[in-house]
Amino acid sequence: MTYSIEKVTTLIGARRYGTKNAQIGFILTDSRSLCFPEETLFFALVTDRNNGHHYIPELYQRGVRNFVVSAVPVGYDKLYPEANFLKVVDTRKALQRLAERRRDEFDIPIVGITGSNGKTMVKEWLYQLLSPQFYVTRSPRSYNSQIGVPLSVWLMNEQTQVGVFEAGISKPGEMNALRDIIQPTIAVLTNLGDAHQENFGLIEDKCREKLILFHDAETLIYPADDEIISKVITEYDYPGERLYWSMKDKEAPFFVKFVEKKETMTTVTYIYKGKEDWYSLPFIDEASVVNSIVCAIVSLHLGVTPDVLDQRMQQLEPVAMRLEVKEGQHGCTLINDSYNSDINSLDIALDFMNRRPDHQGRSRTLVLSDIDQSGREASELYREVSNLAVKRGVTKLIGIGPQLTEQQDAIKVTQKYFFPTVEAFIKSGVFQALRDEVILLKGARRFGFDSLSELLEQKVHETILEVNLNAVVDNLNHFRSFLKQSTKLVCMIKADAYGAGAVEIAKTLQDHRVDYLAVAVADEGVTLRKNGITANIMVMNPEMSSFKTLFDYDLEPEVYSFRLLEALVKAAEKEGITDYPVHIKLDTGMHRLGFDPNNDMERLIERLKHQDAIIPRSVFSHFVGSDSDDFDDFSARQFALFDMASKQLQAAFQHKILRHIDNSAGIEHFPERQLDMCRLGLGLYGIDPRNNQVINHVSTLKTTILQMRMVKAGDTVGYSRKGKIEHDSMIAAIPIGYADGLNRRLGNRHGYCLVNGQRAYYVGNICMDVAMIDVTGIDCKEGDQVEIFGDHLPVTVLSDTLETIPYEVLTGVSNRVKRVYYQD
Ligand SMILES: *Cc1c(COP(=O)(O)O)cnc(C)c1O
Repeated sequence: MTYSIEKVTTLIGARRYGTKNAQIGFILTDSRSLCFPEETLFFALVTDRNNGHHYIPELYQRGVRNFVVSAVPVGYDKLYPEANFLKVVDTRKALQRLAERRRDEFDIPIVGITGSNGKTMVKEWLYQLLSPQFYVTRSPRSYNSQIGVPLSVWLMNEQTQVGVFEAGISKPGEMNALRDIIQPTIAVLTNLGDAHQENFGLIEDKCREKLILFHDAETLIYPADDEIISKVITEYDYPGERLYWSMKDKEAPFFVKFVEKKETMTTVTYIYKGKEDWYSLPFIDEASVVNSIVCAIVSLHLGVTPDVLDQRMQQLEPVAMRLEVKEGQHGCTLINDSYNSDINSLDIALDFMNRRPDHQGRSRTLVLSDIDQSGREASELYREVSNLAVKRGVTKLIGIGPQLTEQQDAIKVTQKYFFPTVEAFIKSGVFQALRDEVILLKGARRFGFDSLSELLEQKVHETILEVNLNAVVDNLNHFRSFLKQSTKLVCMIKADAYGAGAVEIAKTLQDHRVDYLAVAVADEGVTLRKNGITANIMVMNPEMSSFKTLFDYDLEPEVYSFRLLEALVKAAEKEGITDYPVHIKLDTGMHRLGFDPNNDMERLIERLKHQDAIIPRSVFSHFVGSDSDDFDDFSARQFALFDMASKQLQAAFQHKILRHIDNSAGIEHFPERQLDMCRLGLGLYGIDPRNNQVINHVSTLKTTILQMRMVKAGDTVGYSRKGKIEHDSMIAAIPIGYADGLNRRLGNRHGYCLVNGQRAYYVGNICMDVAMIDVTGIDCKEGDQVEIFGDHLPVTVLSDTLETIPYEVLTGVSNRVKRVYYQD
């Protein structure tokens, strides 16, 4: 469904500069995701942190011809002769307007879902329940924001029979815009989240804001047993029919009569429109049951019969939101996206793969199953798949399933292979020959891609460190929110990114355009370069022996002493290098490394001015105690000293020298001292250095129970008979020891891990590769997961027990522990 550029101009009320004809099929807001330049309309969004107008030259060069802007580039007719610029006051509003107009073209049921939790699950399950019967267009993944919702609504096309969209808000005032775009005919409120987290007035306000989605809907679905929702809903006179549900109120339109849980199934008996019926679903947790109720109401309302509902409910599949990156066999990297298989989520996964830089340009392979999508011509669907794959750099496609096999002519990828099943693929030579490739696995659940990913993964020790890449980005944005748009950021990824793994973290940060990455030694920088990192890299502790490496790999050293300075100048001169950027460190109180601001400045400036091999790119110092108010006076003195000396240095040069002193704690505590740049370390990895609280959890260290045994009272566990057993106890062995970074001082009941959410103390001495824990009274078995630290057991609990800082625990996780990266 395309629009002519004239039509778009009218719909968004823009003024057009440029006269070329164009048909618009795709909307782009993130230049990195460009796929079909000719048919793309780019919206140059302006946010606190970024300005889409900066990407116009690059996009034009890559073939984009149509732009929505708030400022038309000067000299546009000369610079961009082929382009159309649609000028509006606010590009974000224009995007929303366009989506609204798209929405207006549809006279079909549109489900809008809001609520604190469960939106995505409800949306995905509705898709599973409705798509056998209707052509459903839904938000991809959790595209539910002010930008995500318009992009989702834009995906509706001529075939769409039902739309299902999430609406998520992060601050008051946002729901109005989302309602205007979605214009739900059926509005759903899943729940209000944890009411205990906030005071009553606040939660009521939150409820009112969410209920803005209900204003013009024909049908309203909500849980009437929630007192706040029930109360707030009476404040308005909504015209829509109220299809609320309740477990208490027999008169409720949807009365949940009882919920019966068995081992793996739950049966929900309900009375809807006076008729009793039931359905079963293959889940037993509370959230799933509640979400299924909401889905049942929507489905019944849309004409699914109770019998069919029951059949489809029994087939419900879990909603996996994760996209995992793992090291595979034979030099391969696996990107495993178990999210439902459909073309929009395929596109997002392909985009993710394409945007990860790769060393030596390993080829990109897509293993794809038949896509379950009713209502679409298969040949057209797979032609679109083929287009996307080619545009996103896929050079090998392995199709699994009868439909793809039949449609193989539609696939134009250079190398292509087709198999009826995963098993047939695994037995083939094509599988055996996978080498040095980046492989995206994208399969509908019924094809059993799990067995495939298990075979492709490197077999590792059961202990892994899971790293949440979204959380890294959220933390980055959290700290960016303290800073002005113009302030630059150095992200510290020394010590293998505080244990999280420097390469993948660097790829993520580079994708989010941080200005500098900082590593400790040259070799760390080399590894990054060899893995495709092109961002600026600072080396904090350059060794005298590594200068040539620095020059070869464009790594910018910190310079902290005259000895280092002399050696570096000499080495650069020998190579015939001029103006090599370096970063000058001043010692304002740490007394670790750095020039003395009181006594060294004149000599330093003199020396720098009398050579042209190197050039100071930045000057910086480091706070001793920005994490504690106790040192505020000292920090102030450090800052004053730095301010004075760094200005002195700047005054001696024409070019701008970036000044920086704030680290993570400093960014929060002294945003007024942000200067030109800040250095973000621990905060990026999710720890708020000011209070040791977790911001967004990044790393989770996990293992599994190897063996369990009953140990009698009076007996002992482990080396040197340290673990005395007082009462008969169930003891489990887990494959993690001090060689993995599990500190020995946690042993002998000083620390604990979590087994199925419950505390299990370490018993006896922790061994090199194994530890024993007390699981008496905990419902668990061999093979169950154990959390050493992570989401439920913050790393700061361990560091407190060990009387150390979280840095030490995080960086202590040894290299032999496999890192697994994922993205929600
Ligand atoms: C490690 C380091 C940082 C980062 O400190 P955090 O407290 O982790 O934010 C900043 N500056 C320098 C010089 C560092 O060595």
